[in-house]
Amino acid sequence: MVVDFLIIGQGLSGTVLAQTIESKSLTYHLIDRNEKITSSKVAAGIMQPISFKRCILSWRGEEFFNFSNSFYLQSEKLFNTKSYKKLKLVRLFSSFEEQNNWMGKSTNPIYSPILGTKNSFLKNICNDFGNSQVKTCAQLNVKKYIEDARHYFLSKGRLSNEEFKESNLEYNGELFTYNGITSKRVIMCQGVNSQNNKIFDYLPIIPNKGELIDIRTNKLPNFMLSKGVFTVPIKENKFRVGSTYNHKDIIAKISLKAKNELLNGLNKITPIKNLNIIEHKFGFRPTTIDRKPIMGAHPEIKNMYIFNGMGSKGVLMAPLLSKELLDHILRRSEINSIVNVNRFFKKYSLEHSNYAKNLFSF
Ligand SMILES: Cc1cc2nc3c(=O)[nH]c(=O)nc-3n(C[C@H](O)[C@H](O)[C@H](O)COP(=O)(O)OP(=O)(O)OC[C@H]3O[C@@H](n4cnc5c(N)ncnc54)[C@H](O)[C@@H]3O)c2cc1C
Repeated sequence: MVVDFLIIGQGLSGTVLAQTIESKSLTYHLIDRNEKITSSKVAAGIMQPISFKRCILSWRGEEFFNFSNSFYLQSEKLFNTKSYKKLKLVRLFSSFEEQNNWMGKSTNPIYSPILGTKNSFLKNICNDFGNSQVKTCAQLNVKKYIEDARHYFLSKGRLSNEEFKESNLEYNGELFTYNGITSKRVIMCQGVNSQNNKIFDYLPIIPNKGELIDIRTNKLPNFMLSKGVFTVPIKENKFRVGSTYNHKDIIAKISLKAKNELLNGLNKITPIKNLNIIEHKFGFRPTTIDRKPIMGAHPEIKNMYIFNGMGSKGVLMAPLLSKELLDHILRRSEINSIVNVNRFFKKYSLEHSNYAKNLFSF
């Protein structure tokens, strides 16, 4: 079998990329080891363009949001999945300063389509400094999206459920062959496991541990609240509370520290006595030192690419960035320098170069 693209990793990044390739009527094959716990499988899936700390639009926030909104509606048709929905999000202000900053910005034409101005009455909720709505917010059930996509890929024979080992990848300077599949290009979408792939291990993909708890209560509203932590409805009287960020803790299990952090945050939204915690989960986000994704070509191995480092905004950014990566590969268009892998070229040492040369004998 000969395909246009071999994609390593079927998390959010690999799945979005495969969908984008398919929309261009090109061919692909995915390899994924179907791990139980990955960043994508625990993600809350929230997509909104505001960075709350300073109440500013995140980098290309509105552009990403609009593109992703259409993209996930297309996914529902292609993968026959119901995994995407608009979500009401109310920000609870933590101070008068935050409230003033928000209200000032909400009259600015750039922010007025995004920041609401109305204060909602919220029963049971600590709301001393008021609140307002983010008008552009949606949620992708990432676990469902990648599971439904997985069934689609398997039914079409486009996914191998196995561990990828770079030592088994053959390369003749143009084409790659892996376990009988020949491909014109390889794109690595391995999330934090990129650290264990020597082809790209010069890149600073940093695991950032995130934890969430699912709780049962009738004290929270049926929409998302944000104030330090967020609460988001899952089912009737069932809510998800998230998320923690910790780049120092690399232990692959849930922690008491994170649970307490989430409970303290929840307590500032609404104090709940005898809280019923149903589940506690963790995952490692693939983050980077400059908090921007990494995409583009390997410095020496022709037709080898990476698409990674989505951090905490994969749902928002992956669709448009995957299109831009493909435009670069197929039409030689420039990759935005902020996300271009070549910003880390200085980290590519002689040792890395020798490894690549030995691996593929070039
Ligand atoms: C607690 C938490 C909450 C989050 N909430 C949000 C949120 O609300 N909104 C948002 O946008 N983002 C959120 N994120 C971040 C989001 O999960 C990531 O941005 C995104 O899912 C990363 O996807 P990925 O495909 O790049 O990586 P991953 O999800 O890690 O996928 C990589 C895939 O590659 C596979 N793989 C790796 N190596 C190999 C190999 N050698 N062989 C075979 N397969 C391999 C893995 O098994 C995996 O399936 C959250 C993350 C966490 C941890």
